[in-house]
Amino acid sequence: MIKTSIIYIDKENIDIDRLEKSAKILKNGGTVAFPTETVYGLGANALDEDAVKKIFQAKGRPSDNPLIVHIARYEDIHRLIKELPEKAEKLINAFWPGPLTLIFKKSSLVPKSVTGGLDTVAVRMPSHPIAKALIELSSVPIAAPSANISGKPSTTKETHVLKDLKGRVDAIICGGDVDVGVESTVVDITVDTPMILRPGGVTKEELEKVIGEVEVDPAVKNSGAGEFIPKSPGMKYTHYSPNADVILISGELDNMVRGIEELRLAKESEGYRVGIMATDETKDKYKGGAIISVGKRGSLETVAANLFKVLREFDEKGVDIILAETFEERNIGQAIMNRLMKAAGHNVVRV
Ligand code: AMP
Ligand code: MG
Repeated sequence: MIKTSIIYIDKENIDIDRLEKSAKILKNGGTVAFPTETVYGLGANALDEDAVKKIFQAKGRPSDNPLIVHIARYEDIHRLIKELPEKAEKLINAFWPGPLTLIFKKSSLVPKSVTGGLDTVAVRMPSHPIAKALIELSSVPIAAPSANISGKPSTTKETHVLKDLKGRVDAIICGGDVDVGVESTVVDITVDTPMILRPGGVTKEELEKVIGEVEVDPAVKNSGAGEFIPKSPGMKYTHYSPNADVILISGELDNMVRGIEELRLAKESEGYRVGIMATDETKDKYKGGAIISVGKRGSLETVAANLFKVLREFDEKGVDIILAETFEERNIGQAIMNRLMKAAGHNVVRV
């Protein structure tokens, strides 16, 4: 067990003295969990091999799953990468700071432990005021995966970060709930037609408005099932799984509700405790089970924001099975369905 300092910071009114302590921990090779606009991240100095190793240890993360390097100022990118393609510049102008990660050919400065042995490096500039200020104060690039035990849903609120990482990292900055709720979009910009390796906070539609055609890694389109090996190493691992088994139900909305009710009754009669991941529009239609609304179908941003939190809330309620509604794979719905499919291990019932 490591002694973890817990540091509360108000994102609207940042106490720089308190943040300075965390920046010092990072500078000295320690690990700090902090909020970003997507999910909480677990950071360490990206240029310090030993510091980076601590991230993998704290999370139990496989060493071939590369980390995203976070920067606070645009100039800081140059020493991390070999070349800056024109389309990358356009995307940076349009979406940084924000939930977009770009894959570049890496410079020799970036250790291979950060990139999981690859010759490429993932870089992002977060927009969250605490993340920005912390990275700037630490004056080093910060490698940071999501702040959760490997395989579990990412964390989007303080209590969930504390549950996973207290005793495993040097400090946790509690800075309130995050905004976006799903991780950044990962785009490979080293190829002629840029390719989405992981759908996320910035949608394919938004990217295409800026740089024209964008492909999606076939492994993502098939949600990782079948013959395609994902180009983003992290996408091949079990991910986002609560303790309960997750089953997705897909179909027309009314059929979905009916299908979930039938499955709930069947599972309950076998003795299982069943949770239902509903939406504001449907939650009153279910007659039993532990019902939690994940957000509004009419505003999928709310579903993205609540998704990981709600998966963890079902574990807090102690259900055995989560029956989850599904969403259209458009705009942010692509990221939502990607995470849900992985949480469910591709267990989908079509009704
Ligand atoms: P996380 O930080 O937990 O959100 O995970 C980072 C994601 O970025 C994982 O899916 C990684 O596989 C992906 N990633 C990081 N670096 C690279 C890279 N150089 N090439 C492809 N994917 C990467
Ligand atoms: Mg993660």
